Amino acid sequence: MRWLILSDLHSNLHALEAVIADTAGLYDQVVCLGDIVGYGADPNAVTAWVRDNSQFTIRGNHDRASAGDPVIETFSDNAADAVRWTRRKLTAQNSAWLRELPSGPLAVGRFFIVHGSPRHEDEYLFNRDEVVGAFRVIPGDVCFFGHTHCQLGFAWRRGRLWLLYPPEEDESDLVHALDPDAGFLLNPGSTGQPRDGDPRAACAIYDDESRQVSFRRVRYDVAGAQMRILETGLPDSLAARLYVGR
Ligand code: ZN
Repeated sequence: MRWLILSDLHSNLHALEAVIADTAGLYDQVVCLGDIVGYGADPNAVTAWVRDNSQFTIRGNHDRASAGDPVIETFSDNAADAVRWTRRKLTAQNSAWLRELPSGPLAVGRFFIVHGSPRHEDEYLFNRDEVVGAFRVIPGDVCFFGHTHCQLGFAWRRGRLWLLYPPEEDESDLVHALDPDAGFLLNPGSTGQPRDGDPRAACAIYDDESRQVSFRRVRYDVAGAQMRILETGLPDSLAARLYVGR
C-alpha cells in the first residue's frame, strides 16, 4: 500500500491543494499526523478535506487547543492569537471532530504514526538525545512523526544514528529505501508552515511493502496564502514566515 503522509497542515488551503494536485495517482490512502489547524486562514476547508480523505488521523497540539484544550497556555503569543481566532471560526461540526481525534501512537498498515514523539505527543524531536530516547520506545521499526515542521528522517541500528535527507532546492523529491535491519523515525515535513528553510509545501509518500519513502516538496501559491492571512487579521508575522520557510 502507498500512503500519502501529511502533517502540520495548519489551515493552509493553498499548500494543501498544491500537494493534492502534485501527488494525484501516487498513493492509495492518506494519513495525517495532526496540526490540521492553527496559524493559517482556512481552518474549516482544511479540516473538512482531512475529515473526508484521511483514513487515519491523529491530533496535534494546535488541534487540541483550537477545540478548547487549555494547552493554549503554553503557546507563543502569535500561536495563541491564531488559536483564539481559529476557535471563533471553526464550525461546531469541525470543532467536535477535532476534539475527538485520538493521540498517537497509532498503528497504520506496517508502521506507526505520532504527532511529536513516541514518548509524548507534544515532545519535539530535534537533538540527538531526544531522538535516541524516542528510538528506545519506538513502536515497530518505522514511525512517522511531525510537530517540528522539518522534513527529515532518523535511522538507528545498534547504537549508530544517521540521517535521511529531504530533496535539495532544485529537486522535487528524494526517495530512500529503508534498511530492513534498522529503525526509522521519519518526518514528512509540514505541508502548511515549513520551518526547515525550504518554503515549499512538504509531504511524504511511503510504500509499506517495498519500504520506500519519498520526501516531496511542492511549490504553491505562497502569496495567496499570505493574502488570506492578512485579510483575516491574523498576525502579519504568520504570513511573512511562509515566504522564508522558518
Ligand atoms: Zn505544527
